[in-house]
Amino acid sequence: MEKEGKRRLRVVLVAAPFQGHITPMLQLGSILHSNGFSITVAHAQYNSPDPSSHPEFSFLPLPDTSTPVFLTGEIIASAVQLNANCKARFRECLAEAMRQQGSDDEIACIIHDEFMYFSEAAAKDLMIPSIILRTNSAAHFLARTALIQLKTEGHIPFPESRSQDLVPELYPLRFKDLPNLQLVSKVSNIRSSSAIIYNTIDCLENSSLAKIEQQWQVPTFPIGPMHRISSASSSSLLEEDISCMAWLDKQSYDSVIYVSLGSLAFMDVKELVEMGWGLANSQQPFLWVVRPGSIRGAEWIEILPKNLKENISGRGYIVKWAPQKEVLAHSAVGGFLSHCGWNSTLESICEGIPMICKPCFGDQGVNTRYVSHVWKVGLELEGRNLERGEIERAVRRLMVGEEGKELRKRSKNLKKKVELCTKEGGSSSNSLNKLIKIIMSF
Ligand code: UDP
Repeated sequence: MEKEGKRRLRVVLVAAPFQGHITPMLQLGSILHSNGFSITVAHAQYNSPDPSSHPEFSFLPLPDTSTPVFLTGEIIASAVQLNANCKARFRECLAEAMRQQGSDDEIACIIHDEFMYFSEAAAKDLMIPSIILRTNSAAHFLARTALIQLKTEGHIPFPESRSQDLVPELYPLRFKDLPNLQLVSKVSNIRSSSAIIYNTIDCLENSSLAKIEQQWQVPTFPIGPMHRISSASSSSLLEEDISCMAWLDKQSYDSVIYVSLGSLAFMDVKELVEMGWGLANSQQPFLWVVRPGSIRGAEWIEILPKNLKENISGRGYIVKWAPQKEVLAHSAVGGFLSHCGWNSTLESICEGIPMICKPCFGDQGVNTRYVSHVWKVGLELEGRNLERGEIERAVRRLMVGEEGKELRKRSKNLKKKVELCTKEGGSSSNSLNKLIKIIMSF
C-alpha cells in the first residue's frame, strides 16, 4: 500500500491449479493491486496462469511433479502430492524474497488457496501472517467441517436409504448433498490463519458466515462476488470460442438455455447422449459447452448419433469452451443448466439467470440445495443419473412453464440484492475495506 513516496506492500498469492480456484485468486490479486498493493502469484506448473494477461503481477512458478496425477483426474491425490512437492521450494523462495526486499516492497502477508495448505507452514516458519482464500461457499465450509463430527458419531459413510434424510444441524442439507471427507482434516484447520476471505456475499450466506465467525473466532471477510469487483482480464485456461456470441445475437430474449458442467466434471457417453436428446426434445434453443476430454470414452461429440445431430442443427450450438460470464450476461440467455460449481453459481445469480442444477461432486450438492431450497432460484434435476425425459422436462419447467416464470422473477430480485452489496457502503465493499486495513496493519 502506498503510504509514503513509492512504498507498496507486497502480497504473495498462492493459487491452486484449477480453473475455479485460479480465477477468483487472480481476481483478488487485481482487487488488491488496484488498492495499492504489489502482487506476486505463486503457482503450480500444471494449469499455470498466463503472465501476459496480468503484466501488473509478478509470477513465481513452483516446481511440482504432480502433473501426471492431475492428468488422471485424481484431484485429491494430486492436491496432496502438490503440497508435498512445493513446500520446501516455496519456503526457500519466500526466505530469499525477504532477504532481498527493500523497505519499499515488504511482504505484508501470504494469501493462499485453502488447497495449498503447505504455504501456511512456510509462512509460519518465516513469521509472515497468512490468510486463506476460500473459493467455495460458506455453507460448504460448515458442511465440510461437520463431516468430521458426523463421522465420529457413525453417521458417515451413510447407507443409500438415508441419502434423502436431513442432516442434523445442517438444514436444509440432506446426506446426499454432503461433500466427501477427503482432505477435510488438512484444509479445515483455519484457526491459525490471520483471516479468511470468502468469495461470497453477506445477503446470500449471512447465517452461515455468522456461524463460522462464532465457531472459529477468525476474522471473516465475505467480499464477493469478486468477478464483479475486480477488473482482472480473463484467466481462462482453455480458449474461449467467442463465435457463440454471434449465434446468441440471433436468438430471442430469454429463450436460450445455456449448458455447462464446468472445468472438472466428467460424463460417460450414455449421459452425453441423454443430455443431447433431452435438449433436442425440449424444443428450446440451447448453447452447450462440451469440454474436450470430459467424455469418458470419446474425444468430443463425434459419438452423438447422426439423427440427434440432425435434430439439433439450427436450434443448438455446441462449443468446447465459452466466454461464460459474457454468455450469462447476454439478453438471449434465459436459463443455465449447471453443475453448480461455486463460480458458476455466483455468475448466474449476478446475472439474474435461474438454474437447473445437476451437481456432480465436491461442493456442488451443497450449492444445489441452496439454489433450489434457500434462494429458490433454480430447480434440481430429480435423479443423479440421467433418465430419458428428465432433462427435457426440467428444461421445459424452467424455460416455458409458470414455475420458470416465478424462478426468473426471484432470480432478478436476487440479482438486485447482490448488486447493492457490492456498491459503496454495501456489505462486500465494507468487508473489502476492512480486509485492506487488516493487511496494512500486519
Ligand atoms: N467457464 C468458462 N467457460 C465455460 C465453462 C466454464 O469460462 O465454457 C468458467 C466459469 O465462468 C467459471 C469457471 O469456469 O468461472 C468454473 O468454475 P466453477 O466453480 O463453476 O466450477 P469448476 O470448474 O470448479 O467445477
